[in-house]
Amino acid sequence: MKDKTFAIIKPDAVNKGYTGKIYDRILKADFNIIGAKLLHMTPKIAKEFYSVHKEKPFFNDLIHFMTSGPSMVLALQKENAVQSWRNTIGATNPEKAAKDTIRKDFASNVQENAVHGSDSDENAQKEIAFFFIDSELLSN
Ligand code: UDP
Ligand code: MG
Repeated sequence: MKDKTFAIIKPDAVNKGYTGKIYDRILKADFNIIGAKLLHMTPKIAKEFYSVHKEKPFFNDLIHFMTSGPSMVLALQKENAVQSWRNTIGATNPEKAAKDTIRKDFASNVQENAVHGSDSDENAQKEIAFFFIDSELLSN
């Protein structure tokens, strides 16, 4: 079975109409989309999802941003999915993101940075399970 990662097309990118363009990047990078849904995060959901950052100075602003509009949550499958997706999205701060990465091309700033990507296989599994039940995921 291939590796999986969890991605979000964040409210800034959904609001600007970039969902289709980001789907193109996902498919061009050879990921299989095995789960997808549009949802509007509540503060409770956003705080739980980003709980690892709760002591950070940017936490409250991040929660405000993530609850500001709809997001597209995605489960992606590919060999070495976590690292491959991090390479496809680029650095957290778009000013530091490499050429042709999603954040370089679609992010506004370090907060409104268009997409999320898991940072480890363990977190990918947890994050997929946080947003999807088994019947919402393709299995192959
Ligand atoms: N973030 C922010 N200010 C910062 C660092 C991060 O607003 O100085 C936001 C940004 O949206 C980022 C998220 O918090 O994507 C999670 O931060 P993390 O360091 O985990 O970056 P990521 O894994 O998303 O690249
Ligand atoms: Mg992170």
